[in-house]
Amino acid sequence: MNYSNKRKSSLLIGKGIPDFQKITPKDINNDLPDFLKELEEEFSELENKVDKSLKANQTITWSGLMNPLHQINERLRWTWGVVCHLNAVCNTPEIREAHSLQQPEIVRFNNRIGQSKHIHSALCALNRQKKLDETQKRIIEAELRSMNHRGVALNGSVQQVFNSESERLAELSTSFSNNILDATKDWSLLLTKKSQINGLPTRALQILAESAKEYGDLGQEGSDIPTTEKGPWRLGLDMPRYIPFMTHGKNRDLRELLYKAHISRASSGKQDNKQLIEEILHLRTKQAKRLGYKNWAELSISNKMANDINEIEELLEELRLAAMPAAKKELEKLQSCARENGVTEEPVIEPWDINFWSEKLRKEQFNLDQESLRPWFPLPQVLQGLFKLSEKLFNITIENADGEAPIWHKDVQFFKVRDVDGTTIAYFFLDAFCRPANKRGGAWMDECLGRGKTKDDEIVLPVAYLICNQTPPTKDKPSLMSFDEVETLFHEFGHGLQHMLTRVDYPQAAGINNVEWDAVELPSQFMENWCLDHETLIGIAKHWKTGESLPEKEFQKLKSSRTFNAGLATLRQIHFALTDLRLHSEWNAQLGLTPDEMRRQIAESTTLIPPIEEDHFLCAFSHIFAGGYAAGYYSYKWAEVLSSDAYAAFEEIRSSNITEVQCIGKRFRDTILSLGGSKSPQEIFKEFRGRAATTNALIRHSGFTTNSE
Ligand SMILES: [Zn+2]
Repeated sequence: MNYSNKRKSSLLIGKGIPDFQKITPKDINNDLPDFLKELEEEFSELENKVDKSLKANQTITWSGLMNPLHQINERLRWTWGVVCHLNAVCNTPEIREAHSLQQPEIVRFNNRIGQSKHIHSALCALNRQKKLDETQKRIIEAELRSMNHRGVALNGSVQQVFNSESERLAELSTSFSNNILDATKDWSLLLTKKSQINGLPTRALQILAESAKEYGDLGQEGSDIPTTEKGPWRLGLDMPRYIPFMTHGKNRDLRELLYKAHISRASSGKQDNKQLIEEILHLRTKQAKRLGYKNWAELSISNKMANDINEIEELLEELRLAAMPAAKKELEKLQSCARENGVTEEPVIEPWDINFWSEKLRKEQFNLDQESLRPWFPLPQVLQGLFKLSEKLFNITIENADGEAPIWHKDVQFFKVRDVDGTTIAYFFLDAFCRPANKRGGAWMDECLGRGKTKDDEIVLPVAYLICNQTPPTKDKPSLMSFDEVETLFHEFGHGLQHMLTRVDYPQAAGINNVEWDAVELPSQFMENWCLDHETLIGIAKHWKTGESLPEKEFQKLKSSRTFNAGLATLRQIHFALTDLRLHSEWNAQLGLTPDEMRRQIAESTTLIPPIEEDHFLCAFSHIFAGGYAAGYYSYKWAEVLSSDAYAAFEEIRSSNITEVQCIGKRFRDTILSLGGSKSPQEIFKEFRGRAATTNALIRHSGFTTNSE
């Protein structure tokens, strides 16, 4: 059948900016099955072609293998990318249904590509050729590694067992997260007395009263429905109810009860994750060994920037040593704050008191009311400041290009990025506001189009999606942003810069493609740092009505609140990262130690208040048991080390000297933003900084003073 004779719907054009509003759920359901069939046929043809070449001892070439393979992958990415994008930003029951209906076939096709023995052999043959440049080698090696991790090189019964245990692992992850969901849902507590809700802000009470209503609880004092003021209120373990209570609830006994229920989720009864954890760890070790690795941590690190476990442990240890004294002081401050406010029982601070006294102390120390700063951060002004900064640092100009591309919602803005000589080099969409009814929460950058060339040699410019969920404008007010929202916008813009300013000619390694997972947050976190740069922030922060600048005092508060309790927060991240790493490298059933016991040993040097008996945090550690972070949790701190050190390059020069700033900015653009996944992140960092990254800058930015300073 010749599919190309059929009229192509907007979903299948496969190039250019998608015509978002013309793509319907009906298109998705009608077109995707045929589209996949067409791609599968192309893929089979490619497999046959390379197989023939291999058998005839003909040379496998880059253009004969990698280009057609990329074209297949890219068409799939384009079409499925549009579906996922619409599902995330204009969700309707129909789109959601179409998405979940088609997803299994997409996964199956991806698996077929990833496990193709013909393609694997051809890649191996191509990899042996001497004519390849460094980037080509990196692309092939990454591709081979990813195929190997899917078990492509295994044979016969070993592969069968590998596949069935992969499936078992997927099942276990699903059960693990379902148990957490169920355990979270199953626990709730009805509060009826004012003494129980003391301290809670109205917004929190509203949520609790709303929950009571949903639960079918009856109102008090004659009213049928629960109200924010009179209750009753239903407490629960989900974040919107748990966090405000732990932060503001004055009733210490209730905080204890709530904390214990939360920290022991999914650790007993029908929803016990303890056995699942052991089985997951055991199977992962076996799978890693089948693939030729010592353990799962080694497998995970094989495609990351970090070279080995020791390197990660060293970095975490440096941070631990620096954070420990700061954390001790922070805990002492919390203790005195509690004593001054009348707590007499010992210990003054228990795990369920930390959030509560931190909030109190934060208010006393900084008197910072984030909400009241919003009028200084209207979106148009924040964007202007961000664009001005990009111009100063990277010599690019950004202008509004609304109307030049189709959009998916009236609030979406479109921008054009020009190089210093005026040529257009990229575009991006900004979908800034939250729309709870049909847009996924959180913020992200995604690629709409990557830099490259079409089959007919047309140049394709990169186009990025920047998605945030900030406060929308009202009839008489622009979107007034919280400082957190400003940081989020800068963060996503940083990812966007790496996508848009790439100069790599191989699309497989352009932008964020082929960048190691533990290095990918470098540009984004780097940009966040600029939010507290005095010149940048003062340039942005002008009252939307009066034009008055943010008072210096408020700026200083923002700045110093950034390191508040940084010691405790750092220790917490180190504790999680080390636990994750050691469970995936050292734990096995023969140790005579449960994973929980191993975690408690690690806690001896990474926590100040040891985990209480009821603490079964591992049973809810879904990042590593149900998400993609297994033996990769350390990436949070790893990437922060890189981004802090990169930012420090700008702190080391005189910020008033624009020539110096632009010189470093150009170097940042020419290395980190331009080279993407074309070289190892170590090399790229070295080209920028002249040396390998060190923890010094992060330690300084976190406010931990070291002996050498
Ligand atoms: Zn990010």
